[in-house]
Parts: sequence; C-alpha cells; structure tokens
Amino acid sequence: MVNQSTSEELVSINPATGQEVRRIATTSINELNDVVERATHAFRHSGWKDLLPHRRAAVLRAIATGLDAEKEHLATLQMCDNGKPLSECRGMVEYAVGAFNYYASVCETLQTDVTPPRGDYVSFTVLEPFGVVAAITPWNSPIMNDATKVAPALAAGNAVILKPSEDSPLLSPELARIARTAGLPENMLQVVQGRGAEIGSALVAHAGVDMISFTGGTDTGRAIARVAGDRLVPVALELGGKSPHIVFADADREHAVAAVAAGIFGSSGQSCVAGSRLFIEEHVYDVVLNQVVERAKRIVVAAPDEVGVEVGPLASFHHRDRVQAFVERARAEGGRILCGGHAPRGGPYDKGAYYMPTVVEGLHPESQTCQEEAFGPVLVAIPFRGEADLIAKANGTAFGLACGIWTESFKRAWRIGRALDAGSVWVNTYKQSVTTTPFGGFKNSGLGREKGIEGLRLYCQVKSMFFGLHDSPLPIAK
Ligand code: NAD
Repeated sequence: MVNQSTSEELVSINPATGQEVRRIATTSINELNDVVERATHAFRHSGWKDLLPHRRAAVLRAIATGLDAEKEHLATLQMCDNGKPLSECRGMVEYAVGAFNYYASVCETLQTDVTPPRGDYVSFTVLEPFGVVAAITPWNSPIMNDATKVAPALAAGNAVILKPSEDSPLLSPELARIARTAGLPENMLQVVQGRGAEIGSALVAHAGVDMISFTGGTDTGRAIARVAGDRLVPVALELGGKSPHIVFADADREHAVAAVAAGIFGSSGQSCVAGSRLFIEEHVYDVVLNQVVERAKRIVVAAPDEVGVEVGPLASFHHRDRVQAFVERARAEGGRILCGGHAPRGGPYDKGAYYMPTVVEGLHPESQTCQEEAFGPVLVAIPFRGEADLIAKANGTAFGLACGIWTESFKRAWRIGRALDAGSVWVNTYKQSVTTTPFGGFKNSGLGREKGIEGLRLYCQVKSMFFGLHDSPLPIAK
C-alpha cells in the first residue's frame, strides 16, 4: 500500500480546435488503495469467476450490445478526445463491439486438455483467472485498446482496473458505465485516472495487482517489466514499432503505393504498426518513391468530422511538437524532405495540432530517424539491392512489431516473411489487425500475444489436476 496523495484534474483538449472538451478528476494514491481493495473483494466474492462460462458470455454480449447502442456518442467522444477522423472512431467502436462478442464466444467454447497419464490417475488442465488485472492503455486508439484488454480479461474471470492515458481519459469511464449497466458485477471493472509516472507506476507496484497488461511505449514497458520482475507478477507488453514496408519491382504498383500511404499516414501515423520505413527495390526506387510522394501530397488533411477527411490532427499539441522535432532531426541528419515537413497554415489549421504527411529520403538505415519511432506521419524511404541486403536492413532495428511485403512471387513472400523479425507479416495487404488473430511483437516491440484465443489464455493461469484411480496405497519409494 502506498500513502502519498495527489489531487489534480486532467483536461481533455480537442486537438482539432484547441478547445477544452471535459475535465476529469485524477485518482489519488489513497483512492487507488480503495480501488484495488474493492477489485480484490469483487474478484473473490462477486461470483463472476464462478459463473458458468456461458453465463459470463451472456454479460459480455450485453456489453457489446450496449457499446453498439452508443456507437455514435462513443465515436464522437473519441474524436474530440484524440482527433481521429470520425469514420475511424466509428470503426474502433465497432472493433470494441466485435471484441466483446468474440471473447463471449471464446469464453463459452474454450476447451482445456486431458493429458496423457503415466500412472493410475486421470489428469487434465483447467484455466484459472489471476485475480486483479491492471490494464494500462495509450492515447492513440482508446476504445479499441481498452476492449482488447478488458474483454478477454473479464472473460477469463478477472477483475480489471483500467488506466487510460492522461491524454485521452474520456472513453474508459464510458466503457465501465456500459459494462455495469449490462450486468457486470460492481467493481469488476474500475477506472483510475492520472499521469503514468504517478498513478500508473503506483498501480503496477501495488501488492494487490496480480497481473499487468500494458500497451504503450518501449521505455515505459521496460520500466513496468522491471517492477513486474521484482514482484514476480506476469506482464504482457504491447510496445512500439518501426515497421518495414517493402515494395519489390514485381509488385502490383497501384495497390502497393496506396497501402504504403495508408500504412503510414492513416491515423496521422499514430499507430504502433505504422509502416514507417519504406524499402523499395533499387531499380524501381525512383519511380515508386515518386508515386508515394504524389499520393502523400494529395492526402486530404482536414478536421476529423469533415466529409472526405483522410488525415486529421495529431492527438495533442505536445505530440505535434515531438513530431516536428523528429523531422528537424531528420533534416540535421542530412535527410531530404520530399513532401510535408511542416504544419499546415491558415483557417482551421491554425487552431489544431495538424501536421502534413512527410516523406524523407537520403538517410543511412542506422540514423536515428530510421531507428526511432516517430509515432507521426513521417515515412523514411530506403533502397535495397537483393534479399540479403533487404533482410539485414529491415531487421536492423531494435523493434519487431509488423511488416508489409509487396510482391507477386509467393515463394519470395514466404522467404522474406519468415526471415523478418515481426509479430505480424502482411503480404500484399497492410495493417489488417483483427480481434480473431494473435497480435504482438518480437524484440523490443513486446512480450506476449493479445487477440485471438491466445488473447484469452493471456489472462489465465493453467492448473493441472490429477484424480487418482489407485487400487493400492501409494508407496513411499517406488
Ligand atoms: P506511454 O508509454 O507514454 O503511455 C502509455 C500508458 O502508460 C499511459 O496510460 C501512461 O499514462 C502509462 N504510463 C506511463 N508511464 C508509466 C509508468 N511508469 N508506469 C505505469 N504506467 C505508465 O505511451 P503513449 O505515448 O501513450 O503511446 C504511444 C506508444 O504506444 C507508442 O510507442 C506506440 O507504438 C505504443 N503503442 C503500441 C501498441 C501495440 O499494440 N503494440 C498500440 C498502440 C500504441
């Protein structure tokens, strides 16, 4: 238990207008102690973990229905909170609905193993929840990231304490409200608010937290893993990326160029799987790069609720400053800016945290620009000659989250896909991330897999059970 207290408010600012949306009270450290105590009590005594799986599934489905019924409200709220285009926000609410429905189905169909006996007993496994799960999420896709953790953690029978980012605090309380209305027992899902360095670090260090599930930056993930290591509690980490997007000369050029642009500029590049390093086969480098730059210049950067918007503002003004500094460093490292490289000016642009889609070339693959995550609309282009050169360069970062490969050769796609350090490989497509397929990173991009059936097992511990069938008493020595 920790005893200092802080009192403060978080202010949600609409990054499209600079105007205040809402104020949210932060959770003090003393209040956190109460939250954890209530979660522990609910886990042990609410009956949730003891419900038959199909009964838990029914509540999860009711949560999905509740989210769906409030889709427009939730999408608009997220748009105001983090500036993503309204159509994308609607898609994220749909994703959350799908996650609750999917984990309802997994919850009531998941089977465990009868294991081969080596004696007079029947042996099998059962899955048990951990207890109180701390779920910590970033600001880029709040409702989607929250649902990705909360749906399977609840399905497994855990109580969840959700801590959203201080930059996007508005969606998590709505999810908790909808879950409660849908029939989730009281305190099985609670929300704490505040800064990562204060309430976030107090939450992961709290003795009442039995498992930690984190999505966010690699440095934060490393700090959380240290605490989890000391406490010996399991931790799942979904971290950053610097994903390679690869175009071979034989690729379907029209589709490849469109996907490269969507892969980095969609969501203003604020996506962990953004394809931020573009590798183009040397002899088509100029022509492909030129097409990507032309597409980037045509992107409609506008207010997130404007018809036809492709890219809205960045999620906050301070994040835009970070992206601007990233581009300045690219310039200082000798990068040539082929388009973008500045905030747009005039009219509504002057009020919001907008930044133009930016393409940079001429940098060494080991430069900081090519190594570090911008988490913004900044693409670096790098030529390659042959598969060995490509694999060395593409694998030459600390990250390993995702990659895209554009080629008409099935065999080449297979070779390269197997050789790259990446948790997700997209061949002739990009950024397909669905609730039914495991997702996570190699290397510094994370530990563990969310989504899919593995995403439910993540929140369970395996218990092995033996039922003896012996005809005679067990001997002391065999
Ligand atoms: P962040 O690491 O700064 O913060 C993420 C969350 O952790 C926030 O809720 C924050 O308050 C909290 N936090 C910060 N310090 C903490 C601490 N010491 N202890 C406990 N909690 C703490 O990341 P961000 O800026 O919000 O998000 C951007 C990062 O998230 C990028 O690196 C991006 O790649 C990554 N991300 C990864 C995925 C994925 O699935 N792999 C998805 C989205 C975003």
